[in-house]
Amino acid sequence: MEREKKREEAEKPFTLTPHQIHRELDRFVIGQEKAKKVLSVAIYNHHKRLHDESGLIKKSNILLAGPTGCGKTLLARTMAKILNVPFVIVDVTNMTEAGYVGEDVEICLQRLLDAAGDDLELAQKGVVYLDEIDKIARAGGNRSITRDISGEGVQSSLLKLMEGCEVSLNAKKKQLQMEKITFDTSNVLFICGGAFEGLLDSIENQPIGFSPGTADIGQEINGKLTQDSLKKYGLKPELVGRLPVLCPLSELNGHDLTRILTEPEDAITKEYQLLFEKDWASLIFEEDALHEIANLALAKGTGARGLRTILEDVLLPTMYDLPGQDISECIISKETIHTKIPTIVKRGQAAATVSP
Ligand code: ADP
Repeated sequence: MEREKKREEAEKPFTLTPHQIHRELDRFVIGQEKAKKVLSVAIYNHHKRLHDESGLIKKSNILLAGPTGCGKTLLARTMAKILNVPFVIVDVTNMTEAGYVGEDVEICLQRLLDAAGDDLELAQKGVVYLDEIDKIARAGGNRSITRDISGEGVQSSLLKLMEGCEVSLNAKKKQLQMEKITFDTSNVLFICGGAFEGLLDSIENQPIGFSPGTADIGQEINGKLTQDSLKKYGLKPELVGRLPVLCPLSELNGHDLTRILTEPEDAITKEYQLLFEKDWASLIFEEDALHEIANLALAKGTGARGLRTILEDVLLPTMYDLPGQDISECIISKETIHTKIPTIVKRGQAAATVSP
């Protein structure tokens, strides 16, 4: 039943225009406007390709380049959600050349098959996110960092997968029996992600924070992310040739990080507010507190990844003590971010800044 439902969903005619896809991405991803535009068109065309029988529309695998925690994986995951197809993330640094011949490829596609509930046809339309692709670039060009030379073999292996090949896999049959099936990767959309640190170096030295310099930074990344610069960085020319869509993402600034805390449909603050609501308490964040969290995350240099850790750390003592107490409001101010002591309003009482 579940499997049929997934298949039906994936086969529905695609009615979204690139503008509408952009708005769908906006529901979950903050900023990265240039990337959203590029990806909206890529999603639109990929869907057309999935439903085209002429074979004329070629697959456009995508490369997302940008610093850690800026939303690369989130964009790829959201794309798969919009396309309504199975999605898996694979860290290419765990792949070995030798492993490719046997297990690694199997694992990557096997996971896609699992995500599709063992529906081969659906799995063959899935999206694979190849994370840390920059880490397997061979030492080359004018970069000083010495890379693992085995990366070149992994690149060759990935190349075959990305251009389309048939791989023999084990699939579950009814009554837990296994059968050999042939997985054709020619319709699988590959999205590669990486920070490409050396390549985007000069951008990292740009001022960040609440300053309005983001547009310039975006332009500069655009200029640097080219097929040539990727080859110089150490990606095989054949692999670069399989990545026609190059999509630069910019570093998130303080304003973006503050928005990420509250605006996406699944924003972290909404998640904690729900947790508190289950204990009949309202969790209120003052504006200054949100800015302070964003500033701390900026200082960590891990993009939006730092936000959850900071918030978890601030709220942990309260979440430990709150259950069982008759609290109606818990107010998080700028000070709370450092003291971890919120202002607590007990039912029928005035606000007090006390340890819960
Ligand atoms: P990376 O660029 O390293 O792949 P991720 O996409 O995994 O980063 O981001 C880590 C987390 O940070 C995401 O799960 C999401 O919660 C948050 N995040 C990162 N970038 C954004 C963004 N642009 N908009 C909204 N949330 C974001």
